[in-house]
Amino acid sequence: MEIKNYINGKFTAPASGEYLDNINPSMGKPYGKIPDSDGRDVAMAVSAAKMAFPEWSRTPRNKRGEYLVKIAEGIEAKLDFLAKAESKDNGKPVSLAKSIDIPRAAKNFRFYGTAIMHAHSQSHYMEEGAINYTLKQPIGVAGCISPWNLPLYLFSWKIAPALAAGNTVVAKPSEITPATAFLLSEICKEIGLPPGVLNIVHGLGQKVGQAITEHPEVPVISFTGGTLTGAGIAQTAAPMFKKLSLELGGKNPNIIFADCKFEDMLDTTLRSSFANQGQICLCGSRILVERSIYNRFKEAFVARTRELKVGPPNKEDSDLGAIVSRPHFEKIQSYINLAKEEGGSILTGGKAIKMSGEFKEGYYLEPTIIEGLDQACRTNQEEIFGPVVTLQAFDTEEEALAMANSTRFGLASTVWTQDLSRAHRMGEALHAGIVWVNTWLLRDLRTPFGGVKDSGMGREGGFEALDFFTEPKNICIKYR
Ligand code: NAD
Repeated sequence: MEIKNYINGKFTAPASGEYLDNINPSMGKPYGKIPDSDGRDVAMAVSAAKMAFPEWSRTPRNKRGEYLVKIAEGIEAKLDFLAKAESKDNGKPVSLAKSIDIPRAAKNFRFYGTAIMHAHSQSHYMEEGAINYTLKQPIGVAGCISPWNLPLYLFSWKIAPALAAGNTVVAKPSEITPATAFLLSEICKEIGLPPGVLNIVHGLGQKVGQAITEHPEVPVISFTGGTLTGAGIAQTAAPMFKKLSLELGGKNPNIIFADCKFEDMLDTTLRSSFANQGQICLCGSRILVERSIYNRFKEAFVARTRELKVGPPNKEDSDLGAIVSRPHFEKIQSYINLAKEEGGSILTGGKAIKMSGEFKEGYYLEPTIIEGLDQACRTNQEEIFGPVVTLQAFDTEEEALAMANSTRFGLASTVWTQDLSRAHRMGEALHAGIVWVNTWLLRDLRTPFGGVKDSGMGREGGFEALDFFTEPKNICIKYR
């Protein structure tokens, strides 16, 4: 696949003329090239987006919505093709890309294509004989920067509300997984999205991402990625008073009480621990279990984890595919070593797996369960973002809560209990933007999505995202 930038409706080569290797992680080999773009490409994209803004922002919302619905249909029509491309680029099982990533990306476009027709604003009557009404106006050129773990899905999560609200967009996918963003630009071209409305610039974060963040004519930035990168973006953007949404890392607790529905909990905990090789920001990497069922859980969980099949992502029966890149593969392994140094015992996993044939250089890791570490150690405090979970027992609800809230992160939490009052108490007290009770990854697109503390600021999803991509303006008219 020859990936090109998409600027002003055209597929363009980077100004530098240079390209980066695009690696297939399941084989550990390059399989294509990505533009090594820089500030010059970003400047062209911003200029195109700026030119397109007046007309796009004045395009009636139902018409803008129609474009987005057409993009959704374009994605759905290419479901198999896009799922295969995502799997090859990212290492995730093709079955996962087909059931989650690609359908959810289409849903995001459809959701915002239709939500914009239901968006409303407020009006406030005053007894003095005046009326206020609030306009929610699109802001201008929105910068959208996304990570590699759910490439098209998270990209769409930003682009769709930004466009629906009437902004034009300069977007940058992760350089590690650029393929489906490029295929999305082809879909936009096919459905006739006006030039300049969406621009996609490929390349490195330090060049392309940084140039988007610094550009004075990009007043709003939506970023998903690591906490450190987010802090750097905030540092650049804050003195320019840019509107900023940051969706960052997590170290999510999965809290299992003895009164849970055990089999449901076990099935879901397998997924919430190891889906996408544990590379979902919402994965529950700290499993806290009430002591009375700790041994029962541990035995069953270890046994079920050993049954998981790690294999080439293009095989339909692989439960786990490849880790996304060599540096990330090495980072996860270094955390497994750290866990051992900190006194943890590996209950299962812990090792790299060598596949055969064309997959022998790929980055495969066994799903790994560790016990014997307290919450204060680095293994339990830092985001590993791989197929690695820790187990710890607790005795009381208070203790579980203290453990759950003991990190700098606050993205998502999962609670397993049949006690309704406890579910509400926990929901209220957990430091997290998202709390799931007796489920995981169940998403209603109308709900706010995001984290607290080091997991970020701002919310995506529903009308929150449409609000983020607009500026409210109050108009007060005195008529008496
Ligand atoms: P990353 O921070 O390394 O990169 C994310 C994006 O930012 C990439 O497109 C990258 O090129 C770009 N970038 C890098 N440096 C930049 C800079 N200086 N200026 C502007 N952009 C720059 O993150 P990653 O490794 O791609 O993704 C993994 C992280 O993302 C994990 O921490 C994970 O928890 C987080 N994540 C969070 C959510 C959420 O919703 N909260 C969702 C998915 C992933």
